[in-house]
Amino acid sequence: MIALGLTGFPLAHSLSPRIHQAALEYCNLKGSYSIFPLAPDDKRGMENLLKRVRQGEITGLNVTIPHKQAVMAWLDELTPTARAIGAVNTIFMHAGKLTGENTDAPGFMADLRSLLVQRVLDHKDALILGAGGAARAVTYALLNDGWSVVIAARRPGQAGALIAQFPQYNARMNRVDFNASALQEITADLSLVVNATPLGMSPDIERSPWPENLSLPPHAAVYDLVYNPQETLFVRNARSAGLPAANGLGMLIEQAALAFEIWTGCSVPREKLAVVEGV
Ligand code: NAP
Repeated sequence: MIALGLTGFPLAHSLSPRIHQAALEYCNLKGSYSIFPLAPDDKRGMENLLKRVRQGEITGLNVTIPHKQAVMAWLDELTPTARAIGAVNTIFMHAGKLTGENTDAPGFMADLRSLLVQRVLDHKDALILGAGGAARAVTYALLNDGWSVVIAARRPGQAGALIAQFPQYNARMNRVDFNASALQEITADLSLVVNATPLGMSPDIERSPWPENLSLPPHAAVYDLVYNPQETLFVRNARSAGLPAANGLGMLIEQAALAFEIWTGCSVPREKLAVVEGV
């Protein structure tokens, strides 16, 4: 019996239980995927939950907002990816050590490749909107794939901190103010825009992270990490302008499949995990 689960807060609308249930069924494994809601300051709760992983009672644990960074303090080991990003979304026991991995970065890159499959890129210039946890994973993935990355954040200090986290790549990183006039200066050269803010997420579905009075970059693909609704206003506007665009559901599925493979050794075809209609 394989016991898997997710901790974070709030978790009521998480798609992860359905994705992992589909994975268990595809791999013919008996098991469950539970949710363990833990409030941001519930240190005792986190300690108890991680003890259950250490003792083998829980085989694998996913971690989401607001615990992705704080949980690292309790772990024995981080993979190089988790260490570089400074956040963990997947926990498991390896060689007797409680280990943290980050599958958001490879999950994003795998899904981005399927969006860009038809596109010949003569330059890799990305703009990331937002500078929180997901932006860090996306930045790491893009830098490792040879991209130059500009960060737009409403708090310049947060963008600066993100850039400072990857000193070896500083020559390929920059920041810009998150407003129409500053973004206008760089749109012509962009080949990718990633939304790593929650803007446009249900119930605020009529909001877009892209400034209203600014044309979309003419040569860019658009990747919106938000997946609820399925077609965000940002993605809809990009498609109307003839740009390739995707929401974050593919990334969610990819990161889940990669975590599931770590825990069980079973690789699941991604289409078997498309638990939301129309994906
Ligand atoms: P986070 O750590 O809270 O970061 C959010 C970022 O967006 C911060 O830079 C924040 O700035 C900025 N932001 C929030 N509201 C804003 C506004 N009104 N105007 C401008 N900037 C704003 O959250 P996260 O974990 O990075 O997640 C970001 C989004 O990605 C969420 O919608 C999440 O659901 C999605 N996500 C999707 C996947 C996937 O698999 N598809 C994975 C991870 C995350 P402040 O700090 O100033 O508020």
